[in-house]
Amino acid sequence: MKTTKGYAAQNATAPLAPFTLERRTLEPKDVQFDIIYCGVCHSDLHMAKNEWSGTVYPIVPGHEMVGKVTSVGTDVKKFKVGDLVGVGCLVDSCRDCDNCKKGLEQFCRNGSTGTYNGKDKISGGVTYGGYSKQIVVTEDFVLKVSEKLPLANVAPLLCAGITTYSPLRHWKVGKGHKVAVIGLGGLGHMAVKFAASFGADVTMLSTSPEKEKDARLLGAHHFALTKNPEDLKNLVGKFDFIIDTVSAPHNYNQYLAMLNTDGIMICVGAPPTPSEIMAFSLIGGRKSLAGSLIGGLPETQEMLDYCAEHNIVSEVEIIPMDYINTAYERMLAGDVKYRFVIDMSTL
Ligand code: NAP
Ligand code: ZN
Ligand code: ZN
Repeated sequence: MKTTKGYAAQNATAPLAPFTLERRTLEPKDVQFDIIYCGVCHSDLHMAKNEWSGTVYPIVPGHEMVGKVTSVGTDVKKFKVGDLVGVGCLVDSCRDCDNCKKGLEQFCRNGSTGTYNGKDKISGGVTYGGYSKQIVVTEDFVLKVSEKLPLANVAPLLCAGITTYSPLRHWKVGKGHKVAVIGLGGLGHMAVKFAASFGADVTMLSTSPEKEKDARLLGAHHFALTKNPEDLKNLVGKFDFIIDTVSAPHNYNQYLAMLNTDGIMICVGAPPTPSEIMAFSLIGGRKSLAGSLIGGLPETQEMLDYCAEHNIVSEVEIIPMDYINTAYERMLAGDVKYRFVIDMSTL
């Protein structure tokens, strides 16, 4: 075991603070890298505050990391020292079940291992995430990162990127489709970029009037303020797809009403409390309510390659490590433009 520096929450109400953690000794298939940037996902906040329950303390969040390889195990084939790499939300799975074989490691029948708050199958300990200097990950869960894109802006692709790319691809969203994205935060801004890039007609549904200009710059063709009843009335029956990225409880029925016949609303946002859904919101118009969880390893690599080819990155605000608690407060206030990314050299 090797010690490294990180930032952790010690309980649900404590602010994140410096923490020393251990990384396992390199196994033959392991890649070790220095984390250069790590994105800040709203899931980090949900988990640090135990909003979904099941958090094991101390927790070191962070699952959008990019960095440079510093050493590799004897059997590593895909990476060498100096390579730019990324790691997202997963660091292991059984690789043997039907879902793993299909490249859907996020749905591993035997339980995939989360990048943080997971059980490390090799060391037996708890996994610690990317708010730290270094990490050791088995090569099958390490992704290749292009030298072409600005590295800080690539980090959020590892979660916000794949989480929005995957459902858009799964449901074959593109030309001729009317798509709405709810919530212009980390996931929402990537959903707008991808949906526009795939050729869809994109509407941003936001609670924040000041985000309209940015939404259009990101690729949205239309903007509606969801606090404005007039805007909402005009949207009834409009969309083929809605991507819901909202992190807090909200009224799903209000948005289901905006679906066209056979329309599909896809939840990627994960509010901590249940919401009521009226059957009538679905049966009139044969509508579907669906969900999607990050994406598997092959699709994550495909998404990174697509971004390199089409010059798609996240819009980021780079912050020092000790700004993290303020960043969480701003995220709760919806004040994110459009992803905080931690510069790990400040730790
Ligand atoms: P974020 O950057 O904080 O963005 C969330 C946005 O939702 C806000 O910027 C705001 O946009 C809108 N919003 C917030 N509170 C709202 C409310 N009460 N009513 C309506 N809109 C509200 O968060 P994120 O990192 O994108 O994550 C979003 C959610 O996705 C979180 O719950 C996170 O845990 C989840 N997530 C899921 C997956 C998955 O695999 N499914 C992966 C990653 C994250 P406006 O100002 O435009 O209204
Ligand atoms: Zn995330
Ligand atoms: Zn599996």
